[in-house]
Amino acid sequence: MATLLLGAPLASTIENDVRARAALAAERGFKPYLVAVSASDDPANEVYLKRQAKAADRLGFRYEIRNIGGTAAESDVLAAIARLNADPEVTGIIVQMPLPPGVVVANVQRAIAPMKDVEGVHPLNLGELLDGDAVLRPCTAAAILEVAKASGVQLAGRHAVVIGRSRIVGRPAALMFLAESCTVTVCHSRTPDIGALTRTADIVVCAVGKVGLLQPEMVKAGALVLDVGINEVERDGKRGIVGDADPRVAEVAGQFTPTPGGVGPVTVAILWRNAIAALERQIRDRR
Ligand code: NAD
Repeated sequence: MATLLLGAPLASTIENDVRARAALAAERGFKPYLVAVSASDDPANEVYLKRQAKAADRLGFRYEIRNIGGTAAESDVLAAIARLNADPEVTGIIVQMPLPPGVVVANVQRAIAPMKDVEGVHPLNLGELLDGDAVLRPCTAAAILEVAKASGVQLAGRHAVVIGRSRIVGRPAALMFLAESCTVTVCHSRTPDIGALTRTADIVVCAVGKVGLLQPEMVKAGALVLDVGINEVERDGKRGIVGDADPRVAEVAGQFTPTPGGVGPVTVAILWRNAIAALERQIRDRR
């Protein structure tokens, strides 16, 4: 049976580092000031952002929510971002998904000032992944790598199969594994036989959003399985969250991230680490 890789201890180590760096910045009179832009009337969204606000408060960050409403057009979202880009007090911008229909997410991500892009989604920050030295990395992809490193598995020379090729999860995760000298295969919706590839993998990342995508017979014995998928399911009349991997994968894998409680908490911690890294860079650039 696989060892469970829990995200909470790693998240707390990252947060301790963030707290120490925030204290150093505070000694010099600086504090991260994050603004989350939201365009939604969904109460669930509000709950999520309030939770984020509380976490920011625990770290001593200044945090605000600017909700421009669920009927906002792309031009409204872009105008909100332009105001935050121009505000010298604001050090980080978060854009809460989903955005209203008709808003092109890539246009919004491209509009964020790269130095304030704490989610690491601007093309410039994504492009830095090609050099292997990006500072503001997309949070989920960076979290996948943190968990992989914390597993103790030596990454160099290993075969990593990433299922999912999205702009801010699968694709950047593949680049990061490459930077760790893994041999990387990326699978996606048009890959004919994913199992044939995952069976040869030392590391499997599922980042799709499909229940049961990874079955035990698709996994090599002892492999490291990082399940990133988040799927809402109803079981016995109760709503819950499951990943992309069938739970029986744990019978074959060597190490396995549970859902919830695996990659998710680390993703949140990386957002805070990016926030402090963005501030540190802005302080340096001001000198
Ligand atoms: P996305 O919808 O943008 O991308 C999904 C990817 O899966 C695409 O590249 C697509 O080609 C691929 N795909 C679709 N069907 C497939 C199939 N049958 N076989 C193989 N590949 C297939 O999603 P995303 O934003 O990359 O997120 C992926 C998953 O990760 C989602 O479930 C999302 O909720 C979850 N997620 C988790 C975290 C976290 O912190 N744990 C953070 C962000 C996203």
